[in-house]
Amino acid sequence: MNEVIRKIERLIKDILKEKNIPIEKVLGIGFSLPGTVNEEAMLLEMAPNLKIKNISFKAFDEILEFPVYIENEANAAALAELSLGIAKQMRNLVYVSITKGIGTGIVIQDYLYKGKNKRAGEFGHMTVVADGKQCNCGKKGCWELYASDRALIEEYNKRTNKSTTSLQDIFEALRNDDANAKAVWEEYLNYLAVGIQNIILILDPHYIVIGGEISQYEEILEHLKEKVFNKNNFYNENDIKIMTSTLKGNASILGASLLPLQDLFFIRGKII
Ligand SMILES: [Zn+2]
Repeated sequence: MNEVIRKIERLIKDILKEKNIPIEKVLGIGFSLPGTVNEEAMLLEMAPNLKIKNISFKAFDEILEFPVYIENEANAAALAELSLGIAKQMRNLVYVSITKGIGTGIVIQDYLYKGKNKRAGEFGHMTVVADGKQCNCGKKGCWELYASDRALIEEYNKRTNKSTTSLQDIFEALRNDDANAKAVWEEYLNYLAVGIQNIILILDPHYIVIGGEISQYEEILEHLKEKVFNKNNFYNENDIKIMTSTLKGNASILGASLLPLQDLFFIRGKII
């Protein structure tokens, strides 16, 4: 562990030197982490996809010369969207980070909602298929097994006997009207829409912001909206705005960099 910390320390110092930033101007370091994070206890509690549990960041804080801040990656991305991205001026949103898994960050009236145990918004692990695929979290049928990048790529490979690792290949096939790509995409969107419908039913947010690499493909938004609102007796398209992130893949990193600023100006009052 100490070796990892020292390596990070070296990287930080290299960047400061390269950018000519005096050390006294650094307010702190923010880490965006893929799992449930207790920022007060400085603990990454559970990151199923990395198969790690209870990693303490206290040692980072002790060894590094700067204050250290940690947050869940989707929460950090939600903060970034709120401060720098598409959700500026907005006060209520759910950020859905689609990567190898799915993470979500919930913002209510400008407050990041983390709940009693700081594990709120683990929507990637809500069950969408009873007794479905086995998840790293121990449960079965979790949303991220059907609606993450990895799920889309795996299904495409299964159907085509290919071994692509990139979304770009699938979207290229889609644009070429490839029947397999279309079928996989249709099924993927159905699952993505089911999860988003569930989130809307639970939280009734003003906005849903979709982030991660997939949000950069323009095919996603219109199709997704159709599926979310079609035959939906509770909500229509005018009730809730679904949009894609403008920060591309940088949302969670930018969000992590905002954590020290948040602390300075709001003294952590921005989390409930
Ligand atoms: Zn799971």
